[in-house]
Amino acid sequence: MSNDNYAHATRANADYAAGFDRGGKPIPPAKQAAILTCMDARIIPTEALGYELGDVHVIRNAGGRASDDAIRSLVISHKLLGTKEFFVIHHTDCGMALFDQETMERLLASSLNTATPGPDGWSDPGGSDGSDAGKDVDWLTFKDAADAVTEDVKRVREHPLVPGRIPIYGFMYDVDTGKLTEIEAASAIGKAR
Ligand SMILES: [Zn+2]
Repeated sequence: MSNDNYAHATRANADYAAGFDRGGKPIPPAKQAAILTCMDARIIPTEALGYELGDVHVIRNAGGRASDDAIRSLVISHKLLGTKEFFVIHHTDCGMALFDQETMERLLASSLNTATPGPDGWSDPGGSDGSDAGKDVDWLTFKDAADAVTEDVKRVREHPLVPGRIPIYGFMYDVDTGKLTEIEAASAIGKAR
């Protein structure tokens, strides 16, 4: 199944490019906004928020966390490309709440093969390629997604390279209904000054 993606993607792109008629746009996003969200495959951020190609920046990582690299992108987004509003969007049923730092370190030390979740937690199939380098990475896990939105908005808000005039909105996206719900505590912290 999954190894068919090379053939799928190259074939699908030939059709996409054949019908592509939206070239020639400038680099700065037309709607002057940036969205930080999770890499979860069930979210299409631009579609969910009503944006078209060229409208907004979308910065994604596991959990939609305000990591150093996410903030690097947000700063570039504003400083060089003129965005004026930031959205931080986490979502229901996020996989990042299903493990913690210690678990990830343990699984990686066991092997680099894909682990499986079970009633008693994650189990690793084992293998010869385990590595303890997992402890050198902050996996940025969380227990409560709404709390994590607030934490991430706060981290962006307090960053010295993010100007206070940029409003940062905190939202939760429901992957089953497609509905966005504002996290008031997060948006309050992210309010423009
Ligand atoms: Zn997620």
